[in-house]
Amino acid sequence: MRFITEPSKQIPVILEADLCVIGGSCTGVFAAVQAARRGLSCCIVEKQNCFGGVATAGMVNVWHSLYSADGRQQVIGGLTEEMERRLIDRGARVENTASAGLRFNSEHLKIELDRLVQEHRIHPFLHTRYAGVTAENNCVQAVFIENKDGRGAIRARFFIDATGDGDLCRDLRLKSYQYPQLQPPSTVFLLNGTTPRERCDLGKLIAEHGKEFSLIDDWGWFGDVPGLPGISMRADNHVFGVDCSVAEQLTQAEIEGRRQADAFVRLLQKYADPSYELIALAQHIGIRDTRHYHTAFRANAHDLLTGRRYPDAVLNGTYRIDIHHQQDNGITFQYLDGQTVTYYGKTEACIQSNWREEQGLTGPPATYYQLPFSVLVGDFKNLIAAGRMLNADEDAFGALRVMVNLNQLGEAAGVAAAICLDTGRPLQQIDGCAVRALLNKTGSRIV
Ligand SMILES: Cc1cc2nc3c(=O)[nH]c(=O)nc-3n(C[C@H](O)[C@H](O)[C@H](O)COP(=O)(O)OP(=O)(O)OC[C@H]3O[C@@H](n4cnc5c(N)ncnc54)[C@H](O)[C@@H]3O)c2cc1C
Repeated sequence: MRFITEPSKQIPVILEADLCVIGGSCTGVFAAVQAARRGLSCCIVEKQNCFGGVATAGMVNVWHSLYSADGRQQVIGGLTEEMERRLIDRGARVENTASAGLRFNSEHLKIELDRLVQEHRIHPFLHTRYAGVTAENNCVQAVFIENKDGRGAIRARFFIDATGDGDLCRDLRLKSYQYPQLQPPSTVFLLNGTTPRERCDLGKLIAEHGKEFSLIDDWGWFGDVPGLPGISMRADNHVFGVDCSVAEQLTQAEIEGRRQADAFVRLLQKYADPSYELIALAQHIGIRDTRHYHTAFRANAHDLLTGRRYPDAVLNGTYRIDIHHQQDNGITFQYLDGQTVTYYGKTEACIQSNWREEQGLTGPPATYYQLPFSVLVGDFKNLIAAGRMLNADEDAFGALRVMVNLNQLGEAAGVAAAICLDTGRPLQQIDGCAVRALLNKTGSRIV
């Protein structure tokens, strides 16, 4: 590789804050809101034009159930529940069922997140990319950002990396790992026209004509967008064999994801109904999995599925293990009640088993799981990574990666930042039980 030397230059400090959050999905926004409610001055750096991450720019409009697996107890609250109320109060249609969870229109979430950020006097930086970091003695001092004004620095007393991939952790050379098989990304899009069985059998159509459009019979899901009858949100494609934390592969994935969406619509137009139309493509491909960073606790599937409890729990979860295969067109679900199902393609051929019976487990199954605070504690004194870069084995990650879970980790990170700055203690010395208690005081339901 050839190199060129960039002349050194002085970078203006454009903001000094108590907390700087990098990445403005709900994980990042909820972290900043929790910290702001405890008196911290906060900013959020987001490279897209809106907050919300995959839930808005990625068009994924589903937050899974806030209830225990038996539907009897609400175990997730906090800002996720608050946001649901805010969406309803502003007249947005939200579908909510104890079993399936919340479905909303991502455009309303964009607007409500803007309002939430403004109400809490959080300094927003949109169209602004995190571009570098400076640190000393395991303490982050400042981050560099780039936007229309050029390059600037933000100094803060605490930092939260909510970039999904963990870009700040990468630049600090923190220890990371990847699974041998990354869960593949998908390009979400909106389709004018639903595809109920009576109009077209998708699996059959793709089996018969997919080759003509270079499409395989891939597993996938789709759903409604509340308030938009006749329009479906499609997530039934995958780009296989790419690592979206690598720039060139991310570029290829974006182009291939859009090609698949277009090919799918053209197949429907030709062989099902000419009135089908592509309405909108997500601003970016939806990334499921890239890097993970070591912390004091690594989540594992056994403890998760058997519902182990922790005194310093900061997350309650009920979502099943959900793994999109890299090597074939399959997806495996593992439920708390023991059921394991793998589907291959849209043909709905599936293989079933029961992991509880296989492990000889008897007695009532767990109805929800937890994670302890130490899952957020790494080596740096004033840095937390919150989001899908979390420390978990492959199966546990399959369950934890969904937004109702990551929203809670964001909130816990914001509360922990406030405790660190209030007490003057490094992250490693704060009490996870205190984080839990503060979260519960403000609407979380970590029982
Ligand atoms: C197709 C698909 C369908 C899914 N379906 C569901 C579902 O139905 N329900 C569910 O709960 N979960 C679902 N998931 C999983 C879930 O959406 C993700 O795991 C989750 O959104 C990850 O959250 P995050 O906050 O870690 O990252 P993200 O939501 O990706 O947020 C990261 C944010 O950081 C910003 N960012 C990144 N790098 C930089 C940088 N250098 N500078 C500034 N900003 C930066 C990004 O723009 C983004 O806003 C799905 C995922 C995919 C891909």
